[in-house]
Amino acid sequence: MEIQGRRRSSNFEDRGSGGGGRAGGIPVQGLSSLVRLLGIKGTLIAAAVLGIGFFVLPASLKQQLLGALSGGAAEGGSAQGSGSVCEASAVNGKACDFSRVVLASTEDVWKPLFQSGALPRYAAAPGAYREPVLVVFASSVSTGGCGSATSDVGPFYCPADSKLYIDPGFYDVMEKRLRAPGDFAQAYVIAHEVGHHVQNLIGANRLKVDGETKNQVSVRLELQADCLAGVWGHSARASLSITDEDLSEATNAAHSIGDDTLGHSNEKDYTHGTSDQRKRWFKRGFEGGDARTCDTFAVKRYAEL
Ligand SMILES: [Zn+2]
Repeated sequence: MEIQGRRRSSNFEDRGSGGGGRAGGIPVQGLSSLVRLLGIKGTLIAAAVLGIGFFVLPASLKQQLLGALSGGAAEGGSAQGSGSVCEASAVNGKACDFSRVVLASTEDVWKPLFQSGALPRYAAAPGAYREPVLVVFASSVSTGGCGSATSDVGPFYCPADSKLYIDPGFYDVMEKRLRAPGDFAQAYVIAHEVGHHVQNLIGANRLKVDGETKNQVSVRLELQADCLAGVWGHSARASLSITDEDLSEATNAAHSIGDDTLGHSNEKDYTHGTSDQRKRWFKRGFEGGDARTCDTFAVKRYAEL
């Protein structure tokens, strides 16, 4: 894969550490000192006494509590909100630059596909492709309509603000913890999130399937996003000099983040599909290059996905 001399997308936001977490009405600083003073348990009890439910606590405080409860480092949402993620280190700088190239490439691929209308057809008429914004953050981030999140959740897409959120540290997690190294594996992750954006535009993410659980519908959506990522790869093959080795990086990544490989033993808990399914749907998009073949909702029986 070659990114030198390729276009960098300007639909890019560097949020710095903390992601600009803002609390609705309640002074975070005060609550943070309350946490320091009372400890996590004490604050939860105090919140309960005051009648503040966990879900109405300000996002940044929730992250502190969650971070502490899950044994991770408690990241304050407000302390370093102004730093640049991309400028924090050379590794980050490279990741940001790389992400902008991949994002630009997805724009170049999806725009004409929306123009030609070669997409799975659902209720919504998608119209022209609207480019999503890629937000890079460190530790935690606030979204416009999807609440806030910490890096632990991995890269994600928020349909309410049409933005993709990635902590560049996730690339390291992929390489070390998920054993999915390689630049094209990282590109696949971005393309997958862009796939969720495409689903938002064509209305796939609002579909329901009679007799299927939320998790099962989620699997259909995730496999479709994998397939759409493959469609991008197919079309970007020449412009980004994507090789067979790159392809195996992506299928290896798709394999390592399958529900079964991640250790979910109960099929009912699957939300993304098995390793085999994820690989298969990605490859379907990559080989055929036709987004219409990514219609996981056209597969009648869930077991046949
Ligand atoms: Zn996904």
